[in-house]
Amino acid sequence: MFDQYSDIIAHTLANADAPHARKHDFLSAGTEVTLLDSGVIKFEPNTACDTSVVISCAVHGNETAPIEIISRIIDDLLAEEQKCGQRVLFILANPWSMVAAERFVDLNMNRLFCGQWQHQDLTLKEVKRAAKLEAFVANFYAEEPVTVTQRLHYDCHTAIKDSARARFALYPFVADRQIPDSQKAFLDQADIQTLLLQQSAGNTFSSFTSSTQQAQSFTLELGKVKAFGANDLSQFNGIDSALRRLIAGDPLPNEPARTVDSFSVCHEIERTSEQWQFLVPDETANFAEFLPGHMIWQDGAEEYRVGDQPEYLVFPNAHVPVGQRAGLMLRKIG
Ligand SMILES: [Zn+2]
Repeated sequence: MFDQYSDIIAHTLANADAPHARKHDFLSAGTEVTLLDSGVIKFEPNTACDTSVVISCAVHGNETAPIEIISRIIDDLLAEEQKCGQRVLFILANPWSMVAAERFVDLNMNRLFCGQWQHQDLTLKEVKRAAKLEAFVANFYAEEPVTVTQRLHYDCHTAIKDSARARFALYPFVADRQIPDSQKAFLDQADIQTLLLQQSAGNTFSSFTSSTQQAQSFTLELGKVKAFGANDLSQFNGIDSALRRLIAGDPLPNEPARTVDSFSVCHEIERTSEQWQFLVPDETANFAEFLPGHMIWQDGAEEYRVGDQPEYLVFPNAHVPVGQRAGLMLRKIG
């Protein structure tokens, strides 16, 4: 499937700019395998299945641990050491940033979905790729057999910052929707005990699949950014085994065995002027706790203090231009 290359990572790195010829094959168990593009590969079992799952990584190309985990799952599927019981589309989203070992090359790809790519320079590679990925995913779901009753998407990332909670999931906002217990159970299986429920529409890859493709979608933050080969993959055993059980079609619990803590945004921090001061240190970890009364920012007479219950800070970044988001304050809701 990957010519002379050892795996999909090597193939994708070597073929980032190569004109792509679609490849197609059948495994001995009857599973149909299609390499749709560099870094985009589809597995379809020839047995009745009830789930279509998109598993993506490398939207930020330097977030290597999920790419390595997913490459191994693909290897095992091709070697038929991993059972394929459900339809799966694997995506290594941003080959050029993988080659550059950077988060992105021209534009943060995770702001280009939900059609946002249409408002950008269409000659940029990441812009063209976001448009193609939307089409691949939409086709993948549209082509599913009538037996499929469940659409899933897990977009796997690692964070730049330390986190007081090692792993967390972001659930994109869709009006009038609540997260099902079965998905909390999946997160628990993946050793993810923290869930951030978003309250406004975004333009991330998981926002696209949840808002336009009716998928249960998550952005998963699975640990810290490291270079290829420098990851301790044992820290990712939870997500690895949960994905493998899902792909095999093994029964997964309907309810979480452990508590999955849910958080919602209570305040969006914005850099409001040049004089604006962010009163937390640069190195503050994601999900750091602040007690009632703690002052978070100040801008002249304006300020923000934590309310009557503890709040938690995520994605702090004081160094954004005026008018942009510098972090989110959260409250625990259950
Ligand atoms: Zn990322």
